[in-house]
Amino acid sequence: MTSLPARIDIAIIGGGVVGLSLARILARAGEDVLLLDEGRHAGTTANAGSLHVQMQSRFIRLYPEQVPALERALPLYVAAARLWAELEAELGADFELKRSGGLMIAENRAQYDFLARKCDRERALGLDVEMVGRADLLRLAPYLDPDAVYGAELCADEGKLNPLLANAALTRAARDAGARIVGETRVEHLAQDGRGFRVETSRGPVRAARVVLAAGAGTGALAAQLGVPIPTAAEPLHMNVTEPIAPVVRHLVQHAERMITLKQLASGHVVVGGGWPARLAGEGTPLVERASILGNLALAARLAPGIAQARVIRTWAGVNTTCDGASIIGAAGPSGLFVAVPGDAGYTLGPLVARLAAQAIRGERPDFDLAPYDPGRFARREVAIPA
Ligand SMILES: Cc1cc2nc3c(=O)[nH]c(=O)nc-3n(C[C@H](O)[C@H](O)[C@H](O)COP(=O)(O)OP(=O)(O)OC[C@H]3O[C@@H](n4cnc5c(N)ncnc54)[C@H](O)[C@@H]3O)c2cc1C
Repeated sequence: MTSLPARIDIAIIGGGVVGLSLARILARAGEDVLLLDEGRHAGTTANAGSLHVQMQSRFIRLYPEQVPALERALPLYVAAARLWAELEAELGADFELKRSGGLMIAENRAQYDFLARKCDRERALGLDVEMVGRADLLRLAPYLDPDAVYGAELCADEGKLNPLLANAALTRAARDAGARIVGETRVEHLAQDGRGFRVETSRGPVRAARVVLAAGAGTGALAAQLGVPIPTAAEPLHMNVTEPIAPVVRHLVQHAERMITLKQLASGHVVVGGGWPARLAGEGTPLVERASILGNLALAARLAPGIAQARVIRTWAGVNTTCDGASIIGAAGPSGLFVAVPGDAGYTLGPLVARLAAQAIRGERPDFDLAPYDPGRFARREVAIPA
């Protein structure tokens, strides 16, 4: 078992997509980096591999008050989807990444009009989006039910990847860059210690000059120990995957009103999810719900009878992180403390959030204005903190 160093310059807490990407960037820049992860309940190991760019109707419906912040962040999603493609090339890895576009389906005129208004707003913000009518939609997606669909919004930059491959490649790359990655290690307590931090772990203490909280839903509890309010919450979500079938689904498919994401991996497996709930059992372990299996798959089969013959081979549940919809990036509270938590569709945003966090940590000019993502917004009560 890897032993912990007594001292380190930068301790990153959380080894999901953000922590791994950040560890790689910082180690490549010559920083002395230790990544600690307890190895449980990461959204990164449970996620569906959808690269989201257009606003998800699920988010608009569940969190309407957060839509303005999400709209302002849309340019981040365009950049994030592109960064994934660059990363795949840079690492010389195969993530089975395809940026073949995303369809958000309307089943009736009212849903189509809702999408058309969304499309106008998104185009004004620089997204490559257009509306497609029923005939064009059925040409693009002949597996859909002609009686069920009315039209769709098509977003060119959306896509999909296989997160199992991407996570393995990111871990290798971070290690190759010189980052020390220590799993099965829980950070139990954080305290300021002179000009740095004392990081108490399940395997003993480490002293760190700087600490980055990239712990997803666990970030809030760690930040609170240093007096910093970051109201992250755990959102348990459900997923399904089918046996491999012949390639039919080219796009990432979503719905204007209902919770669904549907896409086919290069292996032929069809991944179906889209935010159906799971439940949290003891110690925050996410468990699948029968109602979500049935509801999610019934919706998929109704919309896409062309794939309904595929048998489901696995369902699983994972823990997503929610906060106020926007990413949380930058310095927070005591000097040397940083936060790196992605907003909605956090796997898509992960490598970009890591890049922006690295720029903040190293005092470099960030690629985007980080003011809307300032962790200090919660202390200033600019946003309501959920109860
Ligand atoms: C079922 C599901 C499907 C999803 N599908 C998609 C999708 O298709 N596309 C998309 O863009 N996003 C999707 N998401 C969201 C996405 O997976 C997450 O937003 C993203 O992976 C978060 O990455 P992260 O690095 O911030 O956090 P996480 O991946 O959650 O990692 C946080 C890590 O911190 C560790 N940790 C926490 N507390 C401590 C502690 N005290 N000590 C040590 N370690 C600690 C945990 O063990 C964990 O490994 C999905 C999420 C779920 C649950």
